[in-house]
Amino acid sequence: MFPSLFISHGSPMLALQPGESGPALARLAAELPRPKAIVIVSAHWESRDLVVSSGEQPETWHDFGGFPAALFAVQYPAPGQPQLAAEVAQRLSDAGLPVRLDPQRPFDHGVWVPLSLMYPLADIPVVQVSLPSRQGPALQEAVGKALNSLREQGILLIGSGSITHNLRELDWHAGPERITPWAREFRDWMVEKLAAEDTAALLGYREQAPHAVRNHPSDEHLLPLYFARGAGGAFGIEHQGFTLGALGMDIYRFE
Ligand code: ZN
Repeated sequence: MFPSLFISHGSPMLALQPGESGPALARLAAELPRPKAIVIVSAHWESRDLVVSSGEQPETWHDFGGFPAALFAVQYPAPGQPQLAAEVAQRLSDAGLPVRLDPQRPFDHGVWVPLSLMYPLADIPVVQVSLPSRQGPALQEAVGKALNSLREQGILLIGSGSITHNLRELDWHAGPERITPWAREFRDWMVEKLAAEDTAALLGYREQAPHAVRNHPSDEHLLPLYFARGAGGAFGIEHQGFTLGALGMDIYRFE
């Protein structure tokens, strides 16, 4: 059975400059059996209510500015899968979570950047679930739980965000050896609570974790972690690291 994954997707430039986490993603994909499809929650599809992408062939959306033309040329032509989208919506609805389908939704870079490193052939269907970010971590855990058993059908469930994410405090010249102490302290606290399966502490992270608000001025990039946790089982670390001083690149798996 597949684990669920939490992936820190970093800057969009990761697609062109994979650093250390690109090879880690490629290794992880090579080690897992080939999934029949991927269901992914990205920090870059915030919505008020739950929405599931249901198009046959979603477009690649370059949802950012100020990056080189080569990044805008990257395409990720993975197909969608309307039938799976309908099943995902049915499961969410059965769990008491109101949901609708969106056949027009393109893939944002929280989807295609990590998947281009894991599955560069773009030949595995992808269905995306939106992130009602105002509803906090408990909803994400519930969404993950509602979809958990899809793993038994050969479907890979992924939360794509960032374990730390304060873009105003990044050092764009820092190498991977420079780690900002308040970012590391927060990351280490999260890892400790994930390993201890301390749900109360994790759901209350904003009050309890050290430097929580500094690491996540808004928490849309942390919330996909809760989806992955709800969607999987026992916590394990696949990869750890930082780029740009304070941008965590950790990858976790929930078996
Ligand atoms: Zn992002």
